[in-house]
Amino acid sequence: MEARKVLVVGSGIAGLSTALRLIRRGYEVEIVEKNSMAGGRMNLIEKDGFKFDTGPTFFSMSYEFAELADDIKKELPFELRELDPLYTVWYDEPGKRYTIYKDIEKLASEFNKVEPGFREKMEAYLKSTGRLYYDTESLIIKNNFDSLMDYASTVVRVPMVHLPKLFRTFWKEVSRYFDSDEVREIISLVSFFLGGTPFDTPSVFTMLSFTEFVHDGYYNVNGGMYKIIEGFVRMLESNGVKIHYNTEIIDIESNGSALQSLVDQNKKKWSSDIYVINSDAALFRGRILNRGKYSEEKLDRKRWTMAPFSIYLGINQKLPELKMHNYFLRGNFKEYSDKIYKNQASLEQAYYYVNVVSRLNVEAAPEGRESLYILCPVPDLRYKSDWSDKEKIADAIITDLSRRTGYNINDKIISKTIISPVEWRDKFNLPWGSGLGLGHNMMQMGYLRPSNKDEKFENMFYTGSSTLPGTGIPMAVISSKLVTERIQKKYGLVLTDLH
Ligand SMILES: Cc1cc2nc3c(=O)[nH]c(=O)nc-3n(C[C@H](O)[C@H](O)[C@H](O)COP(=O)(O)OP(=O)(O)OC[C@H]3O[C@@H](n4cnc5c(N)ncnc54)[C@H](O)[C@@H]3O)c2cc1C
Repeated sequence: MEARKVLVVGSGIAGLSTALRLIRRGYEVEIVEKNSMAGGRMNLIEKDGFKFDTGPTFFSMSYEFAELADDIKKELPFELRELDPLYTVWYDEPGKRYTIYKDIEKLASEFNKVEPGFREKMEAYLKSTGRLYYDTESLIIKNNFDSLMDYASTVVRVPMVHLPKLFRTFWKEVSRYFDSDEVREIISLVSFFLGGTPFDTPSVFTMLSFTEFVHDGYYNVNGGMYKIIEGFVRMLESNGVKIHYNTEIIDIESNGSALQSLVDQNKKKWSSDIYVINSDAALFRGRILNRGKYSEEKLDRKRWTMAPFSIYLGINQKLPELKMHNYFLRGNFKEYSDKIYKNQASLEQAYYYVNVVSRLNVEAAPEGRESLYILCPVPDLRYKSDWSDKEKIADAIITDLSRRTGYNINDKIISKTIISPVEWRDKFNLPWGSGLGLGHNMMQMGYLRPSNKDEKFENMFYTGSSTLPGTGIPMAVISSKLVTERIQKKYGLVLTDLH
């Protein structure tokens, strides 16, 4: 194996997972990171005695972490904690609340009144989504594609029975099984986790209902999500990987077919044999490599996932009525979903999610207090560029939360941090503040997503949300596997035991 040195740009979960797989294969890895802490979107705020996970609060497909552990022949440096129940959904009518369980018996008892025969309907739905999952997982999700032909010939191997799903939305598919608005809305909430809505997300993603309710459920980590990042960084550092913080790559030097070095904001050059970019795979090509196919104008035409508006509160009181994961919906689900993407819905009447961070992770708040994380999917910066009203929007959400939970939260706030899409964009180089990167319509999947192998430079690769296979934590971990396969195929491996 001749080429041994790899430079990874970005220390998000995909960058760190790629680095772990590569050192196991005998490569020497160095990481440069724009910010002063590792983790990217999966980050941590420590303020006024409180701790908050800034981005992800739970994830499915935990077996992708098990696969990573097996690949590098090390135990995971964190402990998974399965969520039971999965989450609670609050409607804006007194007492109208549903607790969502993985256990079908318990789930059926929540819905029997509004959806007679729920159990049988859910079993039929999960059978169909399970078949879809197993028929596409290894073919489409966990596969590198070398050409459009290669992709097309793989797609046609998916059994024909799934074909109609290509032409339906998530909502349409769910509506084939369930009659009540409540069940349809709650089952299709998972499409918001993909940064879309049930009305614009293709029904192939109903397979996520299978991972949510059957295959795996949802997980958090003892001590909070940032334990994943801390554990991976510890492992990398004890194996000689250096992470250079406060280093943003802004330019490149090449000799035509190969990349020779990357240039940071201080004009320092970073040379290596191989480069793996964990910065957004579409934006990097456009902004740093000046590729016409990824010009701002062309990126503007793509479907991006919604932006996050996040509020982190330290509360001088315990809030037992709130569960660990809570969704707050209203009675206008379809209208709101249709309008929110393009900023045509009022954010003072927003739909939002609340995580009581200190429920599982007790060190996140001093005794008798609570750390709350509120997340609201909002239009990206193309549709709402001015966030000077962020305090006003946050106040409206907190007032709504107080009214609906019966706690006077406003009077109990002792720490408050608001992060608007502007800060999300600037901190992590997220296009238009889009929280989960490129969206997941049929034209932005598989080979049609920006490749994990550069079109021009033979020694340049990509990992993370906007390349294959998609967004979210498990997909980022799969993305590290796919890019590692590419590098191994081209440059070989010398298996090395990690300390
Ligand atoms: C608010 C929010 C909530 C979410 N909730 C969930 C959830 O509950 N469950 C779930 O599964 N997923 C969730 N996600 C999605 C999940 O966080 C992401 O899919 C995942 O963390 C992306 O990891 P990544 O490695 O691809 O990218 P990132 O985390 O963005 O990492 C990229 C890194 O590259 C660095 N970088 C960028 N440009 C440069 C440059 N030019 N030079 C040097 N460094 C650079 C960035 O600073 C960053 O550290 C959420 C995302 C957000 C924003």
